[in-house]
Amino acid sequence: MRYSGFRVAWEGLTGNGGWRPVWRDPAPKPAYDTLVIGGGGHGLSTAYYLARNHGLSDVAVLEKGGLGLGSVGRNTTIVRANYLLPGNSEFYSHSLKLWEGLERELNFNVMHSQRGLINLFHSDGQRDAFARRGNAMVNQGDDAVLLDREGVRELLPYLDFGQTRFPIYGGLLHPRGGTARHDAVAWGYARAADARGVDLIQNCEVTGIDIEGGRVRGVQTTRGPIRARRVAIVVAGRSSQVAAMAGLRLPIESHVLQAFVTEGLKPCIDHVISFGMGHFYISQSDKGGLVFGGDLDFYASYAARGNLPMVEHVMEAGMTLMPMIGRARLLRSWGGIMDMSPDGSPIIDKTPVEGLFLDCGWNYGGFKAVPASGWCLAHLMATGEPHPVAARYRLDRFATGHVIDEEGTGSQHNLH
Ligand SMILES: Cc1cc2nc3c(=O)[nH]c(=O)nc-3n(C[C@H](O)[C@H](O)[C@H](O)COP(=O)(O)OP(=O)(O)OC[C@H]3O[C@@H](n4cnc5c(N)ncnc54)[C@H](O)[C@@H]3O)c2cc1C
Repeated sequence: MRYSGFRVAWEGLTGNGGWRPVWRDPAPKPAYDTLVIGGGGHGLSTAYYLARNHGLSDVAVLEKGGLGLGSVGRNTTIVRANYLLPGNSEFYSHSLKLWEGLERELNFNVMHSQRGLINLFHSDGQRDAFARRGNAMVNQGDDAVLLDREGVRELLPYLDFGQTRFPIYGGLLHPRGGTARHDAVAWGYARAADARGVDLIQNCEVTGIDIEGGRVRGVQTTRGPIRARRVAIVVAGRSSQVAAMAGLRLPIESHVLQAFVTEGLKPCIDHVISFGMGHFYISQSDKGGLVFGGDLDFYASYAARGNLPMVEHVMEAGMTLMPMIGRARLLRSWGGIMDMSPDGSPIIDKTPVEGLFLDCGWNYGGFKAVPASGWCLAHLMATGEPHPVAARYRLDRFATGHVIDEEGTGSQHNLH
């Protein structure tokens, strides 16, 4: 069933009786050509592009819970291509281009809104760093505008320009940055993959990976064994646990990241704003809630909920930047598990086990990467060669020293 304005109007006038479930609920078959473990954004987009770009449809996605209930449906939805370093720059640029055509591609309203992202800076040194980043973005073919203090005031008059501790010197505007509706992205890819013959198997936890003679042969699941020639581990925050089933020890730590949303308010914030002197970023959802987040909880954990000290820290940063936020009532907060890599950049690579692939290390930036990650992992799995824009996302870079340390914070998972 194709979606269109006409369809919505027709269903509205005829009692909404014509809608059908958007994907099938198949039982797992004993064998597939290709298995993708993990029904989050990255797993679903990988399955879609395997079918769409490479004609592979004997594919199943194995998801231990429901589709889209992991971090893909828990993030603060910021989509951007404002990376500095070679490796990241071309990858996220490719991803943003895919975002820009995603709704047509999937025939699904993912509510991609390019409302502009502004990264604030608060010192001369920070201005230099953002000017450099902006130049790198423009060189990559993306967009960046350096705003001075008055330029920021014009766009964001409600910020606290009077405070002297963290004075606002200006901001780097990325006009094509913005947000999307997170769970719609998962549903859109799921529907499109299903339509191309991919089996999406929910409530099917992978409990073991079968390896014989150094080659992957399939997996053990809570719904029985499934044989396969190729298997991809695409489980984000659970990457270390699932990779351990294949005897792999990953350079990944799992940490909780929290998000917050206020009651619905009339439109008041029409950009995405990122504070330069504290970890705080905010946008307003289409329902009116102010959606914001901050730093990781610094201890490693698999709990999808956070603790109060970080809540307080995020609220402090918010109040410092825009005191008006103190009048909004917080409605909900939640947490998600982040797969933190030592250099803050991801891994899309083969593993030492033949036929076993890995896609992880998304830190807290993996939502915007969903289209390109699936595109590039599908390319690697189908052709055996890394896609040019993801060629640096190698697993062995931590041994060879070819790290992509975007944040410049070294090997400290909790700082990325
Ligand atoms: C609070 C918060 C804010 C964030 N904000 C942003 C943002 O603004 N912008 C941005 O780009 N990114 C953001 N992120 C990061 C982004 O959401 C993640 O990097 C990304 O969603 C991770 O990839 P995924 O969607 O595939 O993960 P998930 O949705 O977590 O998918 C992984 C799936 O694997 C499944 N799984 C795990 N183990 C097994 C198993 N053994 N068998 C079968 N299935 C299994 C899980 O159930 C899960 O559904 C944020 C994350 C959080 C939590």
